[in-house]
Amino acid sequence: MTWCIAALAVLIIYLFWRFPALRKTWYLPKRSGLVALMYQMYHHVGVLDNPQDQQFPFTIRPDMLERQILFLKANGYMPISAAELETAFRVGKSAVSKPVMLTFDDGYADNYTHLFPLLKKYQVPALIFLITDRIGTPEYLTWDQIKEMKDSGLVSFGSHTLSHRRLRSLPDEEIVRELTESKRVLEEKLGAPVTAFCYPFGAGGFDKRVRPQVFKAGYLFDFSTKKGINPWPWKGKSTLRRAFPRGGESLFDYHLQLTRGQSKL
Ligand SMILES: [Zn+2]
Repeated sequence: MTWCIAALAVLIIYLFWRFPALRKTWYLPKRSGLVALMYQMYHHVGVLDNPQDQQFPFTIRPDMLERQILFLKANGYMPISAAELETAFRVGKSAVSKPVMLTFDDGYADNYTHLFPLLKKYQVPALIFLITDRIGTPEYLTWDQIKEMKDSGLVSFGSHTLSHRRLRSLPDEEIVRELTESKRVLEEKLGAPVTAFCYPFGAGGFDKRVRPQVFKAGYLFDFSTKKGINPWPWKGKSTLRRAFPRGGESLFDYHLQLTRGQSKL
């Protein structure tokens, strides 16, 4: 009997290794709710063609992002803004049945050159998390670009701290400074409240020392890198999970991201 189970386990491991499609999440039950899409890790929306490139999995090509936006529209998904998230949160209900959020971490300059034209073309809102110390430095957005995007009404901005350090490894006073000072700078420059926060490296979202400080600093929403789909309307009890569309993924993978919160295990 034991050898039978062992043989079965070996066979399953072999099949998963031999046929990568089995590792996809199509067999998990479908879930509905708020899908916060995170355009992943290095978060560039640029053209990167070589699958061997280290950045390839983390980089969505603009033409793929365009196909994904068309996929959302064709399948009844409704991209919502940070303001719509806040309204649903405050009111406790929403008329939107298939909400998604397009979120981009770090505030790279290609969010202006590659992403913003697509958002305008399809009138789709997005949420960009900025590292305030890096604004205006090479490869990152400038204040002028940020203001232009904000004035379009399509892009809102959240904080991704001052300096993108792992909050869990910082002393309390540094955590507080990273949270409050970045919020203050953004609100002063943008002239609007900043309610969304995103943990650098996803670290701290489930930490008893870090997470309460986020809310003490005045944020309403904290976004993690934990995979999954969120309850809708959002009640704000836990850290928001995100789904990570990756470079090189198909629209079928995208469908899995939207319905299972991840495309593969
Ligand atoms: Zn980041």
